[in-house]
Amino acid sequence: MATTAQPSGRMRDALRAVSGPGGGDIVATGLVTAVVVKSGNVHVVLEIDPKDAAAMEPVRVAAEGTIAALPGVLSATAVLTAHSKQGAARSQGAGHGHDHGPGPGRAPSSGQGARSGKLDIPGIGAIVAVASGKGGVGKSTTAVNLALALRNRGLRIGILDADIYGPSMPRLLGIRGTPESDGERILPMENHGIRCMSIGFLVDEETPMIWRGPMVQSAIEQMLRDVAWGELDVLVVDLPPGTGDAQLTMAQRVPLTGAVIVSTPQDLALLDARKGLNMFRKVEVPVLGIVENMSYFVCPHCGERSDIFSHGGARQEALRLGTDFLGEVPLDMTIRESSDSGAPIIATDPDHPLAKPYAAIAETVWQKVTAMRSAPGRTMPKIVVE
Ligand code: ADP
Repeated sequence: MATTAQPSGRMRDALRAVSGPGGGDIVATGLVTAVVVKSGNVHVVLEIDPKDAAAMEPVRVAAEGTIAALPGVLSATAVLTAHSKQGAARSQGAGHGHDHGPGPGRAPSSGQGARSGKLDIPGIGAIVAVASGKGGVGKSTTAVNLALALRNRGLRIGILDADIYGPSMPRLLGIRGTPESDGERILPMENHGIRCMSIGFLVDEETPMIWRGPMVQSAIEQMLRDVAWGELDVLVVDLPPGTGDAQLTMAQRVPLTGAVIVSTPQDLALLDARKGLNMFRKVEVPVLGIVENMSYFVCPHCGERSDIFSHGGARQEALRLGTDFLGEVPLDMTIRESSDSGAPIIATDPDHPLAKPYAAIAETVWQKVTAMRSAPGRTMPKIVVE
């Protein structure tokens, strides 16, 4: 029986201070469907009607802030999940082909395909898209280093290079050659402990590609469905930059657990980041937060830090937009050189200071994904305390 002496009871009591969009506190109105407390890390699940997603975003942020302010809380994550139909579908999915059994850091089973129109990809615990409003902001670099940081955490990770126009994963992961087939499906390529599939393995980098929307879509679907990914905790998807039709269709068709938006601190890029955010909201894909890349520059000679792009814009923008700020990555020659030479620093030297921001971002992403996946269906107990 939950009492206020128990950690989750204390969390629920604190959450009574947060009001829902229609008035009334979020505990009394039944919006809080789970509070998971684990070693000082708290996950709160708010179950909502998808049409209320925009109105609920500030409520989610307020819930997170309320829990984070409690003494003894190390981290707080609040996530929105859709109710009834999706909850029921989720539990069905769990019983059909998603029974992986326990594994290291295994996310609860997904039922990703349950959302109508989405592909079902058994064996993959979560799919996280990395997106940006425009090209050149370091989306692919962030995707590969996020994937490696998740792998450093002991998770089984794959990368799907969906950037059909400019596939860069073969170069970033230092993988050459052509994938083999097991007779039925394409086998993913692998390096640094990451399984990867990219159109770049199949088409020469120099070949001009005029892909039209439907072709892009079918290429992505094949890379998801017809590749023997095996069991993965997270598949990171490097989306093409921008927010056009191709990206929108992809976001609708791929069963994304959530999206990470990469932005540089420049205002222009931030405007683009906002477009990215809105695109995911439109297709009801939860935005996990914004990463500020090339956030500041530390001189390799004197160690002095320069905020060359008016640092801090992404944090403010994230707050204003009601999403989370996942972290900042400096502009650093080592990141560029190591990534572009196929030996990212996070893979070759996990203790390097530059690995820290990626590790922190990966931790938050994994916590959020885990919280989302452990969102119980209607028949599950409301409170979980560990
Ligand atoms: P996008 O996928 O957004 O087009 P990329 O990831 O290909 O961008 O990055 C563009 C260029 O910027 C690459 O040469 C990459 O090595 C470099 N780069 C990305 N992030 C950083 C960083 N934090 N510090 C230094 N160089 C970076």
